[in-house]
Amino acid sequence: TNMQLCNIAKLLDAVVNMLNAEAALMNVSMFVSKLSNEMIVLGSEHQLKQVLLNVLKNAIEASPKDSYIEIGLSYESEGRISISIKDNGNGIPEHILGRIGEPFFTTKEKGTGLGLLVCRKIVEAHNGVLKLSNNKLGGATVNVVLPEYHRKP
Ligand code: ADP
Ligand code: MG
Repeated sequence: TNMQLCNIAKLLDAVVNMLNAEAALMNVSMFVSKLSNEMIVLGSEHQLKQVLLNVLKNAIEASPKDSYIEIGLSYESEGRISISIKDNGNGIPEHILGRIGEPFFTTKEKGTGLGLLVCRKIVEAHNGVLKLSNNKLGGATVNVVLPEYHRKP
């Protein structure tokens, strides 16, 4: 398909900017911390952007008024880029955690339920992993891990 070198830090900034207005409506702050601005993934920039958009949009939709979302870019391990999006909503109920990723599962009136399934498929097609978990102190964290691109020597 359309493989290119994608700067994940830039992609993340773009997505945060796209959703700024939506977050502001709820007075939800988004804090971004990046270990580096030079983390490159080989893949489809369009698809990876869709993943980050979907996950961040879910986090905003789950966020109560006047709360915040922490977005982190770091390494999970050597050569494995980790993007984490942590909100302070109600978290994903345990009994539905295992069903998320099944098509058409949604708890929203107007949700399609396709978001996370498509996200997971895209991440896996990039040899990555999409993980969902609930925070000890409340809220959910979505973690997207992608292999970093290295120029062949
Ligand atoms: P949709 O957003 O259209 O409902 P998704 O696949 O994006 O579909 O999400 C499926 C369901 O997962 C949501 O309806 C919601 O119940 C749950 N979910 C996703 N992200 C979060 C989150 N950050 N906090 C709590 N629940 C979430
Ligand atoms: Mg969604």
